[in-house]
Amino acid sequence: MYDIVADCSDNVPTRYLVNDACVLGGKPLVSASALRMEGQLTVYNYEGGPCYRCLYPVPPPPETVTNCSDGGVLGVVPGIMGCFQALEVLKIASGQGSSCSQQLLMLDAQDVRFRSIRLRPRQAGCAACGENPTVTALQDYEAFCGSSATDKCRRLCLLSKEQRISVQEYKEILEGGAPHLLLDVRPLVEVDICHLPLSLSIPLASLEDRKTEHVQLLKERIVEAKQRLKSESCVPVYVICKMGNDSQRAVQILQQMAGLEVEPISAKDVSGGLMAWAQKIDPSFPQY
Ligand SMILES: [Zn+2]
Repeated sequence: MYDIVADCSDNVPTRYLVNDACVLGGKPLVSASALRMEGQLTVYNYEGGPCYRCLYPVPPPPETVTNCSDGGVLGVVPGIMGCFQALEVLKIASGQGSSCSQQLLMLDAQDVRFRSIRLRPRQAGCAACGENPTVTALQDYEAFCGSSATDKCRRLCLLSKEQRISVQEYKEILEGGAPHLLLDVRPLVEVDICHLPLSLSIPLASLEDRKTEHVQLLKERIVEAKQRLKSESCVPVYVICKMGNDSQRAVQILQQMAGLEVEPISAKDVSGGLMAWAQKIDPSFPQY
């Protein structure tokens, strides 16, 4: 039996599972997480403070959750958060106590800034640690959350087969020299790590927000491709990201924009993204 539990998991079902086990077992839970350039640390179920369910009574819709496989994380960030997590475990174990109960430490590694915010207190109506708990045994957490308890990439399927091409097909298009536009929708920090030559970088978030300068840039590049095309057909736009999830969302947005905000285009996503490219086409392409 353990005295202190450290949650280092990367998915929502496991967080609920570990939380409920800690509440049922009466153990403090030192919880750390990291995504992209941000880290968080708190201690649940400790000295009258809230548990995970007090703060998150209902799981988020699965499609809104970004895990590290999709979102990426710089290895140093979980390293920093893991050190803080180990420190809190040692402080609790040695009787010094942790000041992280009902307190969330947030690291912004981009600006090298720590912030600490006060969390809501233990909730009397909490299903796990409240006055009349309904969680009296561990349950099926994958069913509860509607997502699988894995940090492996979820494969979204938003597009039909006709709206997607494989990395092999894209390689043939590149080699054939057919005029097209390759749009990379990853965050800029990831584009700086690696990208395919001649790709236009517009992060998904900018497309979603229809950022003026990015829409303008997209328009210009489509017009350029159209001139190279020397025919009346639509400019093919191939969208790529890391794993092939964000690229599908981007294709849906481009389809809404086509013919209205930009020239008519034929938008498709490159299935499996740059990691599929690295695995199947170019082994020298960086995998991160
Ligand atoms: Zn609770």
